[in-house]
Amino acid sequence: MRIVILPKENLAEFIGHLRSFGELHAPTKRGEKSLVFAPVSDLSEIELNYTRTILPLKKYFFKATDVMFNFCAEKGYELPVEEADKKYVIFGVHPCEIHGLKILDLVFGGKYVDTYYFARRSKVAIIGLDCIPDDLCFCRSTGTDFVDTGFDLFLSDIGDSYLVRVGTSLGDDMVRAADSLFRQVKKEDREAYKRNSVQRRDSFQAEIQLQDLPGIMDLEYESHVWEEVGEKCLSCGICSMVCPTCYCYSVFDELSLDGNTGQRKRIWDSCLFKDYALVAGGHNFRAQRSSRVKNRYFHKQRGFVSQYGRPSCVGCGRCKAYCPAGIDIVEVISKLRSEIRV
Ligand code: SF4
Ligand code: SF4
Repeated sequence: MRIVILPKENLAEFIGHLRSFGELHAPTKRGEKSLVFAPVSDLSEIELNYTRTILPLKKYFFKATDVMFNFCAEKGYELPVEEADKKYVIFGVHPCEIHGLKILDLVFGGKYVDTYYFARRSKVAIIGLDCIPDDLCFCRSTGTDFVDTGFDLFLSDIGDSYLVRVGTSLGDDMVRAADSLFRQVKKEDREAYKRNSVQRRDSFQAEIQLQDLPGIMDLEYESHVWEEVGEKCLSCGICSMVCPTCYCYSVFDELSLDGNTGQRKRIWDSCLFKDYALVAGGHNFRAQRSSRVKNRYFHKQRGFVSQYGRPSCVGCGRCKAYCPAGIDIVEVISKLRSEIRV
């Protein structure tokens, strides 16, 4: 892997170069405290020292509301036209987000490939950026605090410079297009990178033991913890919407008033919604909130491990940060393991 150094005083100019590779998006402030990935025009609009945005990157590839096709009684159906050649560069993507995309790639690239997702994925360059964990981050426990692949470039702060790892030929083109802004790696850069890496690793506060969790969950299928959490849960579905690895959606047709034309759409869905497991005839397989909460945890920490060999959680902490009932995944799992007495 090619590694180069970008002095911080050159970052603004490099950001300018990146814009020639596509529309630039980055974490930017919305209001006092909130952050979102959105279009930006220069470095002054980018929040470099952020922890998490409200919505993860999935919003770019798997849209909250998506037109699958348009239909018409006379002409049949046609796919929606997107700006075919438009490219995007997303700057400032944290390691857990990149792992979130890798999980979605697995799901949408399975037996039935989701062409909507991959058509967008192929148009987006990812520029990663490392981060300092807050008290909600537990990506170290999920093994998603570091990435080796899944980015075009990845920037790590080493004081007055960034150590830049080049992940793809597109990333290499980006560096070559602004060659004079970069320099070779020196001994002190290597030392600073290793020192910062240890400091970052040591700064995690939240932790989950995942090693034998699938087995513990099987043992605790009837645990009182599910009732407890179900009593608090409001079934609002926010945890699914903000989760970088939740991918459920529902499909419906929107018809014109004369019934001649329409659109087939899909929208994000959540297994926490009351009618998610409602079937024809009126039976609901998960009518109780406790069973819906349990289903979400089992899917992420049990079913996904069986199918893909890893949990579908990247430890980003969003589900705790935005849950109106304050439900904390770290605490729920600790209770299941009896590390916290109730
Ligand atoms: S965000 Fe919290 S309250 Fe809302 S569905 Fe998820 S766990 Fe329940
Ligand atoms: S389950 Fe929670 S912590 Fe895990 S990836 Fe989803 S939002 Fe992040």
